Parts: sequence; C-alpha cells; structure tokens
Amino acid sequence: MNDPTTNHGIAVGQRIYVNRSLNFGNIGLIGFDMDHTLAPYNREAFEALAFTATLKKFIDAGYPEELGSLQYKPDSVVRGLIVDRARGNILKVNGHKYVKVAYHGYSKLTKEERYKLYNHESFKAQDFLSVDTFFALSEVQLFLEIVDYMDKNPGKIQKSFQDIYADLRNFIDLCHRDGSIKDKVLANPEKFFKKDRYLSTALVRLLDAGKSLFMLTNSDFEYTRQVMSYVLDGTSSDFSSWKDYWDIIIVGASKPDFFAGKQPFFEVIEDSKLLRVHDGEPFKPDLVYHGGNAKLFEKLSGYRGDEILYVGDHIYGDIIQSKGMKNWRTLLIVEELEEELPKLEKCKLSQQEIYDLFSIKESLDEEWQKLRSKIAANKRQLERSLKASGSKKQEYLKNQIEQLEQQLAPIQIRLEETQNKIKAKTSLLEAHFNQTWGQVLKVGIEKSRFAHQIASYACLYTSRVSNLRFYNPYKKFVSFHETLPHENPSSAA
Ligand SMILES: [Mg+2]
Repeated sequence: MNDPTTNHGIAVGQRIYVNRSLNFGNIGLIGFDMDHTLAPYNREAFEALAFTATLKKFIDAGYPEELGSLQYKPDSVVRGLIVDRARGNILKVNGHKYVKVAYHGYSKLTKEERYKLYNHESFKAQDFLSVDTFFALSEVQLFLEIVDYMDKNPGKIQKSFQDIYADLRNFIDLCHRDGSIKDKVLANPEKFFKKDRYLSTALVRLLDAGKSLFMLTNSDFEYTRQVMSYVLDGTSSDFSSWKDYWDIIIVGASKPDFFAGKQPFFEVIEDSKLLRVHDGEPFKPDLVYHGGNAKLFEKLSGYRGDEILYVGDHIYGDIIQSKGMKNWRTLLIVEELEEELPKLEKCKLSQQEIYDLFSIKESLDEEWQKLRSKIAANKRQLERSLKASGSKKQEYLKNQIEQLEQQLAPIQIRLEETQNKIKAKTSLLEAHFNQTWGQVLKVGIEKSRFAHQIASYACLYTSRVSNLRFYNPYKKFVSFHETLPHENPSSAA
C-alpha cells in the first residue's frame, strides 16, 4: 500500500498511505478526534491501570479472590480481533471473513474446530464484538484470562461466558463513573500520555495554509480540557492555550451516533459543569459545544461533506460512519504502523521467499493435478478393457498407471515439503510481530479483516497526526491501488 510519490526521506512508519485519491487543496475543514488521535496514550500504562481497576470490581462483586493474581500482559490482544462472547473465543479473521486463528483462553483452536464452529458457514460479524479501539484491549485480555481460569478451575465461576462479558462491561462503566481510571490518568498525565512535540508544528502548518480546524471528541469537557492542555499548552510560541488552535470544539459528541443522529448542540458553560441549548447561530471559536449531529454541523460550519477531512483512530466510530453517513473524507490513525512497518522492511526478504515458495507450490500442484488426471483416465480405460478382456492392453495400462504413480510420489513429497516450508517461514515472519497474532494488518499472507476495513473506508492512513507536517497542505494524494487483478498481468493465475 505504498505511495511512491511520498517517499522523499520520510521513514516508512511516518508516511501517509493512500487508499483513495484526495486533493488536500479541496479540503477546507479538518477535524480531529482526541483520545488516541491528538492525544496518544502510553498504552501499557493505561491498559495496566484499566485491567487492574476492572479486575478489582470483579472481586468486589464476589468473583473468586484468586482472580486477583491475574496479570496484565501487553501483547496478548491486538486491534482488529473479534470476540465471540457466547463461546469465550477470540478470533482473527481475514478480509473474506474466514476465521484463520482462534483461541479459547490460551488454548489454540485446531483447523477442524475452527471449521466446525465458524468456517462451515458465512461469518456473521454482527454476532461478535470487534476490537476496534485500544481502550478495548485490556477489556478483552481480562475476558481471555477469566475464560482460561474457568477452563482450569471448572465450577468455580457458575456463569456463562456471555454473562461474564456483560459483567465486564458493567465494571468498566463503573470504573469510568467512579473515576477509578480517569482520575488517576489526569493526576499523572506524563505517565499515561505520549506527548508529541511535533503535533503543534503539524497543526500550525495546516492553519497557515488557511485550513479551519475542529475537534470532535466523545470525552467530556473537563477531561478534554485537562488532556489537551497537557498535550498542547506551551508547545508553540504562537498559541498560549490549546483552545486557540480550533475554530470549533465539540465534546460529548456520542460518535458514532453523531454522524447519523439528530441530537441538538449544547454550549458548555465553563467552570459550571452546566450546558445550555445552542441558539442555532454559526459556531463561534470561543465557545465549546457539546453533543450535536453531523447534519447540523455541516449547516452551522458552512462546509459540506467532501470539503471536510476527519482524522480519528476508531475504524468504526470515526471512519466508517463519517464516510458512510456523511461522505466526509477520512484519515485513520493506525499507531501500530510505526512499529510494524520498519520491521516489515527488514523482513522483506523473508516475505519474498514466502511468495517464491507459493509460486513453486503452484507449479507442483499443477504437475500433480495433471498426473492425477492421467492416472484416473488410464484407470477408466483399464476398467473398460477388463470387461472386454484384452490382456495385452491391460498389461500396457497397468504399466502406465504404475509409472505415473511412481512419478506422482516425489511430487507429493515435494509439495508437502514446500507447504511445511511456507508454514515455517510464515510463522518465523509473524514471530517478528505479535507472538500470538502476527501483524495487525495481515493474517498469514492475506489481508486481515482490519486491513480490509481500512482499505474500504479510510481515504488515507498513517501512524500519528504529526506526520501531516511532512506533507504540503495542498498536496494531491493519489491512490495507486484502484486496479483490479485483470489489469495486472502478474495477478493472473
Ligand atoms: Mg479515539
């Protein structure tokens, strides 16, 4: 998915990648989500906190005290996975909705088990929960740990997996309501956020080019104020406060409903925790708005769908809905690219070796099929001649079959060897990434479901907002990925 026009000295992990051509010159208004977009979290610190706080609620609610020894493990879940709450399984699915990897607790499901449970019929994504956001990682890991505990300690928790997940959701909500997570984050922002010193450079560049900027976050005003103040205040001599960067600030937006819903805008009365109904006047930069909806947003801002670019990290809440409902242009933040793409560069050779092995396997397959057809044809003839009792011909056919079968045997062996080599090399390659799940955007050599969603819905994608500083604010981003297999001769079978 590389864009050859943007390579000039920009590291692979910091480039902007293009799925759908986009002329930045036509974009007048650029919006940003806050959590994990403008404000990237120090994920391990945050997830460990969320994991421990939620686990405490389980024990407070009467779950076995032994659960207290469960540990947060940073790599056990990645974005893009799918949770089967009813069966207690975590799945990795390819772009064609085929379950390629599945775990029940820490036990890996076999190919036959996956087939029986999922792959014998068309996969219904709506029955499962998609791990779209970083906030879900600690939640899903905790589910995985409890499922594993239940398997190893039968009878100790008398609930269904589905009910446990429902409890998990309640306990997380409780943590958010009683401040077990957010109070700790705000008390110690340097521990929980990664401050990007180039963020203001990127935003100022867009402002200097005449773009209007807005923030659209689901977080409440008080949290937004404190987080943004930590992230932006004092990072540019031109702006004394984080609020000065924005033409419009919207908090409590309730995405994804914001994009399809009809809720009105409110104005935040700062320092009072109160809201008043917005009077319907165009947005004013010195006010902070709460709630609202995309249709009214376009009316009050004076920009229509394709003049607006929205930047967010949530594939569903930020990208699929804004593009699908309002035709906004989209830039998805995929933080994982920063770590995975340089590794992938280093592994290019092994990736090529895997593709080469696949082409060897394809030729062997072809040869094997031809021989099998010849053997079958000879056997049919032999059967017919047995009925006609012509012994000379029978002898000849028997010899032919024997010879063909002798040729078949080494091909069969080479095929198995090649298949094993592919498997070994693929797992070696994947081990450079996440030990359990491999690359976020791939499953084996295929696109993961997450990658498929990115390709379908995000016009552009990159690892962090500040990468925008490398690009001209009027740049025409051109997609080189609109071709179909028949347009590329090397894709022909
Ligand atoms: Mg976010």
